[in-house]
Amino acid sequence: MSTFSQSYPMSGGDDQHSYIHNSTYQKAAMDGVEEKAKQYILEKFDLLTLNPDLSTFRIADFGCSIGPNTFHAIQNIIDAVKLKHLKESQENSLVSSLEFQVFFNDQSNNDFNTLFRTLPTSFEQEYLSVGVPGSFYGRVLPKNSIHIGTTSCTTHWLSGVPEQVFDKKSPAWNKSYIYCNNLIEEVTKAYKDQYTQDMSLFLKARAEELVPGGLMIMLGLYLPDGVAMYETWPGIVKDTMGDCLQEMAKLGITSHEKIEMFSMPLYFPYFSEVKGVIEENESFTIELMETVRHPLEAAELTNDFMISTYRAVMPTFIEKHFGNGKVDELFNRLAKKFSEHPIDFEKCKKQMIYYVVLKRK
Ligand code: SAH
Repeated sequence: MSTFSQSYPMSGGDDQHSYIHNSTYQKAAMDGVEEKAKQYILEKFDLLTLNPDLSTFRIADFGCSIGPNTFHAIQNIIDAVKLKHLKESQENSLVSSLEFQVFFNDQSNNDFNTLFRTLPTSFEQEYLSVGVPGSFYGRVLPKNSIHIGTTSCTTHWLSGVPEQVFDKKSPAWNKSYIYCNNLIEEVTKAYKDQYTQDMSLFLKARAEELVPGGLMIMLGLYLPDGVAMYETWPGIVKDTMGDCLQEMAKLGITSHEKIEMFSMPLYFPYFSEVKGVIEENESFTIELMETVRHPLEAAELTNDFMISTYRAVMPTFIEKHFGNGKVDELFNRLAKKFSEHPIDFEKCKKQMIYYVVLKRK
């Protein structure tokens, strides 16, 4: 059996390796689309139909991690809703005030203390916050309670690794590869099936939590058609991690058996797969479904940036599987390898961002 737990929080606290200081790649993805959400809310979101007596507006971020990106996403939504509320109140000569309540969801072992400790004071005056521990692949909030839900860079984290991937007798055995690099068709299929199942549970839960007319805003990374993970820089980083682990096994720091029982719980879908699972859920209308290039993909990323980005998102499940001290060993080796043979970013295929706004029927 694999030793994976069902949750893999980002690096907590606020030291040099924490997610707080190493999440600009995810933040840039958000920046690339933030105007679209604002525009949609201003032009199309109908607060009055939602509830003419609305006094508490509830927003939830699913997979918020420890900040600061979540604060940014929430602020963006609040600013737009406030503007919209002002406009609708003036047009309908209404005098009403709107209070905001924000639900921050992540796995229970997410570092919620750091999240709330770093909540900007200006935000504290603007909304009331609630921490919501639990997996977003099930219900985490009351039925019919949320007006806008959002999630960014989250659902490529699967609820678990498909079992067949560790089974030597299965055609979906992932050999010594440590993630779904798209080299073995059956492995890709096993991961894809897990993704589809997880995503449909995600949408089912959100459909219950959102009020009719409420919005679900989703941002995530996908692979363009014809591109395999091993051709992208995130793929190259993970394959190189695999090489480093093999070296560590040769030196007796870990073992080949342990590597064979390790595969990352990550799947980056093709756009048609994202679209397919959304369309299958009939509780939403698709208001917006767009793709954009990741703003940082055009820039020359540095090896240091790339390694620290990965170090902030990977440590918990690497440590859980390989044991104490192995994260430092692995990332030191990775840094050495990339300083000797830097990635040629120009040659790498690019992942893209999808941006979706769904409305609860
Ligand atoms: N949305 C933030 C964080 C993205 S990192 C941002 O854009 O910066 C991905 C986050 O999703 C992590 O904090 C991880 O713990 C969370 N996550 C992954 N699977 C989850 C699940 N099943 N339920 C809740 N949170 C999950």
